[in-house]
Amino acid sequence: MSLIALEEHYAWDPASDGNVVATWLRSNNPLGYDRLYDRGPLRLEQMDAAGIDFQILSLFDPGVQDRTDVAQAIEHARLANDNLAETVRDNPSRFGGFATLATQDPDAAAAEFERAVTDLGLVGALINGHCQGRYLDDPAYEGLFERAEALGAPIYLHPTTPHKAVMEAWFAPYVNDGMHLASWGFSVETGTHVLRLIYSGLFDKFPGLQMIIGHLGEMLPFNAYRADRYYGLGGDGVKRLKRLPSEYLRDNFHVTTSGNFNPPAFACTLEVMGADRVMFSVDYPMDNNVDGARFLADFPMEESTRRKVSSENAVRLFGDRIPAALA
Ligand code: MN
Repeated sequence: MSLIALEEHYAWDPASDGNVVATWLRSNNPLGYDRLYDRGPLRLEQMDAAGIDFQILSLFDPGVQDRTDVAQAIEHARLANDNLAETVRDNPSRFGGFATLATQDPDAAAAEFERAVTDLGLVGALINGHCQGRYLDDPAYEGLFERAEALGAPIYLHPTTPHKAVMEAWFAPYVNDGMHLASWGFSVETGTHVLRLIYSGLFDKFPGLQMIIGHLGEMLPFNAYRADRYYGLGGDGVKRLKRLPSEYLRDNFHVTTSGNFNPPAFACTLEVMGADRVMFSVDYPMDNNVDGARFLADFPMEESTRRKVSSENAVRLFGDRIPAALA
């Protein structure tokens, strides 16, 4: 049984130049900084310590999505994807890659997605949430999702700092406590973004589209019952979707264990999503490979389920875009 991890981050300049967390790490946690920037010995040593065979790499949040110079964001995404493809070519048995997209320009993002998957051999894309307040249910992104469906390549929706208005309305008094970050804000922001995609009818339009979310589903599995029960209870009472919200969650999303090695949350996610929809991840280097691998090894479940979460679901999702030896 192999172990595949797919929400695993790296930084690279110029695309990550000025990254807030990387800058903080450089002064406060030099080893964390080195691990973030490394795609060689430091990373492989940490993978080997945990028995992780394969990482799918993605550029650290917010990728290039915080750039106000759109031409530069497009250029940095292209350079980062060329560079990531080189890492994959140098070490194809250990690394795959998610493309970085400049979602400031939806058409450029769609074109780069296709180039990254078709020409560079990347397995899909990772998008860091809203782009300066614009969410992916904006119809301008339909071309991107159309391509993702046609290519059979998934999009990983990764958290980012909540929308500016939400930051002010909800989190401003508690920023020093980090309430807007991984403790709460990232999950409600990303969970809300997922529901926006579902409620927009995106998956009625592109029923084959596959997306991935981390952190055991950004709290959505826990709330799926209520999402279904109260769906449509707005102004006019019209139910615009063909199905219930949780049916899209189960059929168009996979969730990963990234940074959420918590038995009761895992049990809930596994039960709501089903064993075919849960995949292993760590969130390296922000989280610890050994902790993640140990959690997966120790959680009481059928061995057939453990195999699905460890690798089989990822092998099925990514097909021949990842090495056959991982099957
Ligand atoms: Mn992450």
